[in-house]
Amino acid sequence: MAEVSKHMFEQACSGLECHYMMHPWNESCLKAIPHTAKASLIGSAKFYSVIYLAQIAMRGTKMLRSKEEWFRMGEYYARSTALGFLVCGSAPVLGCVLRRLTGDKFGYYTYLLVPNMINGLSIYLEPPHRRGLVINLFCNLMIEYWLRTLEKAGYLVMNKSKQTFLFMIGSAALFYLMRLEGDKEHRTPLFWLFTPEKVKRKTEDSKGACPHKGPCNKHILKGFTKLFGAGAAITLARLVLPRLRNPARAFASIRPHHFKMAMFFGSYIGIYRAIICYLCRRRGYDSALYALPAGYVAGLAFYFNPSVGFSIAAVTAAAKLYSTILYEKRLLPASVPLPELLYCACQGTLFHARFMHPDVCPKYTFNLMKSVSNGCTELLYANMLEALKRAAF
Ligand SMILES: [Zn+2]
Ligand SMILES: [Zn+2]
Repeated sequence: MAEVSKHMFEQACSGLECHYMMHPWNESCLKAIPHTAKASLIGSAKFYSVIYLAQIAMRGTKMLRSKEEWFRMGEYYARSTALGFLVCGSAPVLGCVLRRLTGDKFGYYTYLLVPNMINGLSIYLEPPHRRGLVINLFCNLMIEYWLRTLEKAGYLVMNKSKQTFLFMIGSAALFYLMRLEGDKEHRTPLFWLFTPEKVKRKTEDSKGACPHKGPCNKHILKGFTKLFGAGAAITLARLVLPRLRNPARAFASIRPHHFKMAMFFGSYIGIYRAIICYLCRRRGYDSALYALPAGYVAGLAFYFNPSVGFSIAAVTAAAKLYSTILYEKRLLPASVPLPELLYCACQGTLFHARFMHPDVCPKYTFNLMKSVSNGCTELLYANMLEALKRAAF
C-alpha cells in the first residue's frame, strides 16, 4: 500500500467518469443511489450491532432487568445506525455534486476529504453524551495519523519509552482532573480503565484519611485482581474465540506473554491506589492533588504493554476533561460547536488518508469504512489503484 500524491491522483483520476470512482455499481449518479443507500444501511446496522452487543455485555445483569434501559439502548442503536447510513450513503452523492461543480473533474481533496467533512455534521444524530465519546475516538485516530506521518518523515521516533512517558503524563493529568470533577452531579462521560475514588472530605466522621472503606491492602489487592482479570479475559477471548473449533489447543497455546495486558491493567490500578493510600495516611488528609504523582508513577505499568493509540487516548481524555473546565469558566465559547467541527475535520482527513496515505492511516479507519459501507470502499479503492496503475504505464 503506497502513498498517493496529489500529482499522481490528478494525473490518473481527475478525468475519469464519476461512476468509476464513486459508484461502480451503476453508471448513472441517480440510479446508483438505491444501491449505495442499501449497502450503507446494511453495513451500519451490522457494524453497530456488534458495538452495542459488547456494550450490553459490559453492563451485565443490571441492564437486562430494566425495560427502560432496553428501550434507551434501542434508540441509541437506531441513532448510531442512522449516523453511519447518512455518512456513508451521502459521500458518493456529495462527491458527484462536487465533481460537477468543479468542472467535471475529480480533485485530490474534493474526492473524499471535502464530502466527508460536510457529512460529518451527521454527528448531531448521536445524543450529546455519546457524541463526546465518538469525537474523542476520532481525535485519537487523527493524532495517531499525524504522529505516524511525522515518524515516516523522520521527524520523530515513538519508541516504547516515549510512549510510556506520554502515557504517564496523560494519566497524571487525567486522574487529577477526574478527582477534581468527583463531586459534580454531571460528570464528563469518559471511557477509562477505572474511575478514581472521590476525594474524602475532612468533616466525615469515619476513621482514616483514605478515600475507601476497609483496610488499604484489601482495597489495593481488590483493584489489582479485578483489572488483572479484565485484562486476562480480553486477551483470552481474543485468543480462543477465533479457534472455537479447537478450544483445547487454543488454551494449550497460552504463554506468559499473553498476560502482558492483564499485568498492565492490574499494576496500573495497584500502583495508583498504593500511592494514594500512602499519601493519605502519611499526611492525614485526602487531596485531589495526590492523583498527580499517583497517576504519573502508575503510568509506568504501561511499559508491560505499550501502544501508541493508548498513550494518545490518555492525553486526549485529560484534554477533554480540561475543556469541560474551560467551558464552565466561559473561556471556550459555548455558542460555537467546536467539538462537532473538530469531528468533521477528523472524519474528512481520516477517510482521505485511508485512500491516499494507507501506510500511515490507523487500522481502525480501514475496518470502520469497510464495515459501515458493507465493503463498497474496498471496491472504490481497488478501482482507484487500477487507474493509477494504468496511468503509470
Ligand atoms: Zn456520479
Ligand atoms: Zn487506604
